[in-house]
Amino acid sequence: MTQNPLVFIISAPSGSGKSTLTNEILKLVPNLVFSISYTTRALRGSEQNGKQYYFVSMENFERMVRDGEFLEHANVHGSCYGTARRFLREAGTSGNDLLLDIDVQGAAQIKKNLTEAISVFVVPPDRKTLEWRLRNRGENSERDIQRRLQDAKREIEEYDKYDYVLINDHLEKSIERLEAIVLSERLRREKRTLSQEEAAIVERAERLRLTNLKEKVQPILASFRADLASAQL
Ligand code: ADP
Ligand code: 5GP
Repeated sequence: MTQNPLVFIISAPSGSGKSTLTNEILKLVPNLVFSISYTTRALRGSEQNGKQYYFVSMENFERMVRDGEFLEHANVHGSCYGTARRFLREAGTSGNDLLLDIDVQGAAQIKKNLTEAISVFVVPPDRKTLEWRLRNRGENSERDIQRRLQDAKREIEEYDKYDYVLINDHLEKSIERLEAIVLSERLRREKRTLSQEEAAIVERAERLRLTNLKEKVQPILASFRADLASAQL
């Protein structure tokens, strides 16, 4: 029996740890594949074409838009990014589920067309930690870091459009939480009676639902808003 792939969207302000979590979950969970996006931005650090992204010229990107090859596309931090439709088709035929690492604009577009997509928003523990992680990663220029911090303030306010929220404090715990979300959604799709162990996974994931996390996110939002207020003085 063939079934539609589950589509997991993961979004976060840049530097929150989304790529780290994505890489770990792909190693941990079988039959979960990553949708490699197309981008017009320059290759960074140790990135390889065709691994993290397909790096293309503006001309090629625009041609793909015209040919309707993207499921969604958006301008993020001054560059173009897009999710190719073919990844969804290929996941469908190979029986895999699909993981998309895309920004809040892309997530909104996907949710409109693919209402059953499951979305996870990753947030840093606070603004200072985000800044530290961006600097420590050592891959962005100062100008780029400032732009990403400014964008983060806006992006983080969108957290309540997502199904699940993951506060990326301790990496190991965050990986376990993300794994629980993926496994729980797979179990829910099976619509059968669950073992005790399986029910515990679903329960763990339920604790990460937006409604259960709203209160914990408030101080994080406040750390971003306070920073903006002091910058305006
Ligand atoms: P993103 O993909 O969201 O831009 P990265 O995965 O590149 O972010 O992570 C940014 C930096 O933060 C990296 O140097 C990464 O190793 C580090 N990092 C990620 N998660 C954690 C965590 N839970 N605790 C400490 N450092 C982390
Ligand atoms: P980075 O350049 O740091 O890898 O990614 C910058 C931002 O672009 C991140 O928020 C990432 O999620 C987003 N992004 C990556 N690929 C896509 C995509 O295909 N579509 C959209 N809308 N955003 C993407």
